[in-house]
Amino acid sequence: MKGGALSALEKLFGLTGKTALVTGASRGIGRSIALGYADAGADVAVLARSTTALEELATEIEKRGRRAVVLTCDVADHEQVHQAVATTLTAFGQIDILVNNAGGFDYAGPFLDLKPDDWAKVLRLNFESVVHLCAELGQHLIRRGSGSVINISSIAGVAGVPMLSTYASSKAALLSLTRTLAAEWAAAGVRVNALTPGWISTELTRTFAGNPQASEGLLSAVPAGRWGQPDDVVGAAIFLASDASRLVTGSSLTVDGGATAYVGGPTMLQLLGLGRVAS
Ligand code: NAP
Repeated sequence: MKGGALSALEKLFGLTGKTALVTGASRGIGRSIALGYADAGADVAVLARSTTALEELATEIEKRGRRAVVLTCDVADHEQVHQAVATTLTAFGQIDILVNNAGGFDYAGPFLDLKPDDWAKVLRLNFESVVHLCAELGQHLIRRGSGSVINISSIAGVAGVPMLSTYASSKAALLSLTRTLAAEWAAAGVRVNALTPGWISTELTRTFAGNPQASEGLLSAVPAGRWGQPDDVVGAAIFLASDASRLVTGSSLTVDGGATAYVGGPTMLQLLGLGRVAS
């Protein structure tokens, strides 16, 4: 999208002239979204705790002819988040797109084994950090009368996931926050949506993806029959950031290979030994 007039399609789906802040951008889904946004024409501020990985990413963004800002920041630390937002506004002058992607869990296990601190840690990382970032940036977006906030939830926020109660609850809370902020900020021109990815192969899911038995078990509930890759999420993230979704707010867009649409268990085709319908 460099040089020349933009086509109608580029104006609709492109991000030329926009600036984005992507949290959790040092690897995985966040990194792919940051690069996708740069490809679509946006300048991108990339936030995470790993400076070296962010600097490498910034170089990639700059190679695409876009500006990049590196923000070494722990999203669970309010003062660091405040500084990161201020640095981005100084560098870019404005923020049009906020992608709240940083998140994860470091323990999967039965609900009854959880300690209060396990809950506090996951809620702080996956939910409170988003509350805080929205509070930091909300006024700026409302004052400008435009903007798109995209919260990276999960199918775990939609369906029950045994052994992941902290994570699933935090992702469900994100969906609720998304709907409420969307309703509160729509009149001001600010849109708030969520993405609910399914099983995506990243550092977060390495233990499951790397274990053939676990992987096969998980994929048996995914009609598409494969792990998603971080790049599979990029198109949906660009759509929600672009003018193509200008009347879309308070929604959640699912990128899960059909997992949440499917009742689970063996398919009728498998039960009848028919294999695929068509090759
Ligand atoms: P990942 O590869 O582990 O990446 C997580 C990112 O978040 C990294 O860039 C990490 O960077 C950053 N991060 C973690 N804690 C942070 C903190 N305290 N402060 C700032 N940054 C922090 O995971 P992913 O799979 O790409 O997940 C990205 C998002 O998608 C998460 O919210 C996750 O819940 C969601 N999601 C993932 C899947 C999946 O199957 N992978 C499915 C649904 C939803 P540093 O370590 O450098 O800080």
